Amino acid sequence: MVAAAAKNLGKMPCPHCGEPVAVKETASGILKYACQDAECEAEAFARPHTVAARKWRALVGAKAPAPAAPKQEPAPAPAPAPAKKPATPFSMLGL
Ligand SMILES: [Zn+2]
Repeated sequence: MVAAAAKNLGKMPCPHCGEPVAVKETASGILKYACQDAECEAEAFARPHTVAARKWRALVGAKAPAPAAPKQEPAPAPAPAPAKKPATPFSMLGL
């Protein structure tokens, strides 16, 4: 009997140690990885359509951390400061 070949989806950082781990998809759609780091050796699997599986797929899909273009938010026009005397303890008390 031949074990169903798991499809190699790519690598993601090990959630435990950060080393790259190969994520594989089994014939039944379950994602799994086994960390090869000698001081980690974490193993996990994620059933299809779980949040974990979605996260792993997203991590694997991100080959290299693409430099996200910084959002250009229009700087709010500085409102002209009203000519006002600085608040003093006395003015705060209405004196
Ligand atoms: Zn690890």
